[in-house]
Amino acid sequence: MTAESPIRLFVAPVTPLQQNCTVVWCTKTNKAAVIDPGGDIEPVLHEIKRRGLTLEKIWVTHGHADHAGGTQALREATGAPVEGPHEDDRFWIERIPEDAQRWGIYDAQSFEPDRWLNHGDTVTLGETTWEVIHCPGHTPGHVIFYHAPSQFAQVGDILFKGSIGRTDFPRGNHADLIEAITTRLWPLGDVRFVCGHGPMSSFAQERQSNPYVGDRVIAASMPNRSGPG
Ligand SMILES: [Zn+2]
Ligand SMILES: [Zn+2]
Repeated sequence: MTAESPIRLFVAPVTPLQQNCTVVWCTKTNKAAVIDPGGDIEPVLHEIKRRGLTLEKIWVTHGHADHAGGTQALREATGAPVEGPHEDDRFWIERIPEDAQRWGIYDAQSFEPDRWLNHGDTVTLGETTWEVIHCPGHTPGHVIFYHAPSQFAQVGDILFKGSIGRTDFPRGNHADLIEAITTRLWPLGDVRFVCGHGPMSSFAQERQSNPYVGDRVIAASMPNRSGPG
């Protein structure tokens, strides 16, 4: 974030899967959103309080337990409404308790969002407005949260520094994921992003060097249109 940026953030890796629970806030109002409260919500709430922030929203990128397992507990503790993911992830949210057990996540619960999100929706936080971009592939209902004025996004498990999300889960789809990244994310320009696991990166850096969706890789995978037929 630049000094003039109207948002700030901190990242708190949570659950045994070290998922990047991200707290973003509007610097004018100190209203905060927790993106992907997978679990371990007590230390996250403590840090929000310590920084003098007020939790206004809970945003969820997708229904995997490591991203959404603490959503219900956080809503019960704070009364903040839950926005996201897209309703196509309903089946993932319903199976959070059993998945969490398998992944060693403590006390995860299913929930019903206060608002399901669709591609092109906007969500507000304090005086800031964020765009919702539906990026299916890792899960069918995965969305990302994009703040255009800051060129910042939280992209969940769509894209990582040097990698992309897994697509071998139920209703995962590799072609959908590649299409979402190249046609819905790349046109946004050079956006810095927090991803679901591991370090931050930027779209420009990934277009240059990502072995799955880098520009050279995508160009090489295009069908050869020069031959007959
Ligand atoms: Zn995931
Ligand atoms: Zn994840």
